[in-house]
Amino acid sequence: MTQLAAAVPFSDPGLQYIELRQEIDQAMHRVLASGWYILGEELEAFESEYAAWCGARHAVGVASGLDALQLSLLALGVVAGDEVIVPANTYIATWLAVSACGAVPVPVEPEPDGYGMDVTRIEAAITPRTRGILPVHLYGQSADLDPILAVAARHRLFVLEDAAQAHGARYKGKRIGSHGNAVAWSFYPGKNLGAYGDGGAITTNDSGLAQRLRMLRNYGSRQKYVNEVRGMNSRLDPLQAAALRVKLPHVERWNRQREAIAQRYLDGLQDCGLVLPVTHSWAGHAWHLFVVRSAARDRLQQQLAAAGIASLIHYPIPPHLQQAYADRGLVEGDLPLSERLHREVLSLPLFPGMRDEQVDRVIEACRRLLEKKNNEPLSYGLA
Ligand SMILES: *Cc1c(COP(=O)(O)O)cnc(C)c1O
Repeated sequence: MTQLAAAVPFSDPGLQYIELRQEIDQAMHRVLASGWYILGEELEAFESEYAAWCGARHAVGVASGLDALQLSLLALGVVAGDEVIVPANTYIATWLAVSACGAVPVPVEPEPDGYGMDVTRIEAAITPRTRGILPVHLYGQSADLDPILAVAARHRLFVLEDAAQAHGARYKGKRIGSHGNAVAWSFYPGKNLGAYGDGGAITTNDSGLAQRLRMLRNYGSRQKYVNEVRGMNSRLDPLQAAALRVKLPHVERWNRQREAIAQRYLDGLQDCGLVLPVTHSWAGHAWHLFVVRSAARDRLQQQLAAAGIASLIHYPIPPHLQQAYADRGLVEGDLPLSERLHREVLSLPLFPGMRDEQVDRVIEACRRLLEKKNNEPLSYGLA
């Protein structure tokens, strides 16, 4: 059989393992042979390296990004009945963390020219029960933190950042990791810094908060069998910490690769009818995802698939319309800007190690499909 153009996967986290295989294997074997598998030196070493990388004083490793958010909210004092302001347009984990504390996520619509929370709408969402603001650095682009921090200071609210998609992203030149009171991270395998399973962390400059987080992730205990508060079991495994220590020094280089791919898309997809992502002046983009918009999104996705190109929708159903939030009583039409994004967004393949010819193949397919005026699927002659 002749060599057909290869399929373009959406991402390929296995490439990073192949690249660093020897070092990752050695690091994981070191942990296996140590006989020490929970907390301990390996985790502490990762925590101090990650804190330094983020420009924060403390990092606390936990079991997932969702736990990082929930534990942060608990450590910041959120209790049942409180309200926390969240973006309407985000992954549902942002909302679930608030709900898990018995608090109420209060959604704010996205900005008109982008995907992040519209900071000008935050103040109107504040009530006497509001305790904090939870911005998300969505798709790898930092939220506009200065106005968020200013509103928070005026109303004595905390700011917890959801940075699950933003490893290495910058706000006005400074890496995300210590702008708000706490910053929650995920090391889910597909993130810009991914583990070989679930993992997460919180970074903060607040020593008291870091200490509470260390207790809360470990049964509410600082000293074994002495439980000061009702905590959880949510610790980053030393095995994962060891692998993350190997990968961390490479994240900036991988992010530069992501940026080059994004730039190639931006150049190649101009004027073809797609709404392309806008990078704000304040943002150093980590390009976790390259998200375009099209009114013909579903058809475009199907036809890309027929051409062997994977794409994903982040996210098909907004949190307020998920069955999980049916009891909030929010219906279609309540958050129209967010709902429109959910109908129109499509994430194109983007991952470190993606080749130029793969990017070009996606660009060509998008242009060809969008320039076609009728609805018939194209036939892709592979001969
Ligand atoms: C991935 C993600 C999370 C949750 O992280 P997990 O490690 O999967 O629990 C939270 N928020 C956002 C925006 C995410 O993308």
